[in-house]
Amino acid sequence: MGTEITGGCKCGTVRYKGVIADTPMFRCYCRDCQKLTGTGHSEMLPLVAKTFFSEGRVTEYRMTGGSGRSTWSSFCPYCGSPISRRSERMNHLVYVHAASLDEPERYKPVQSIYPDAAQPWDRPVP
Ligand SMILES: [Zn+2]
Ligand SMILES: [Zn+2]
Repeated sequence: MGTEITGGCKCGTVRYKGVIADTPMFRCYCRDCQKLTGTGHSEMLPLVAKTFFSEGRVTEYRMTGGSGRSTWSSFCPYCGSPISRRSERMNHLVYVHAASLDEPERYKPVQSIYPDAAQPWDRPVP
């Protein structure tokens, strides 16, 4: 069994926990992540979906991903903090935004995805 982590939003309404999945942590520079976070990229930490549990009401926004299948972004309806992302295609994982962790230092990204979409003011890591 992997490491269980906890986190939540800025205002404390949303709290979550889950087990870190054995899959690479990454940062994503796609335009969806830019728009959803208001920054140059998102910092995503994968959790095992069946261990993910959250309390407090989140709002989920559904999008159509590049594969034509659904992806969802969840955020706190009160303070607006982005909480997690999930997709139909990778439904065994829930990705949480690393800065929402209680111990954000557990996040160690090893790759960038969609680096070509990076803004000139936000360069990808190798
Ligand atoms: Zn909140
Ligand atoms: Zn992205």
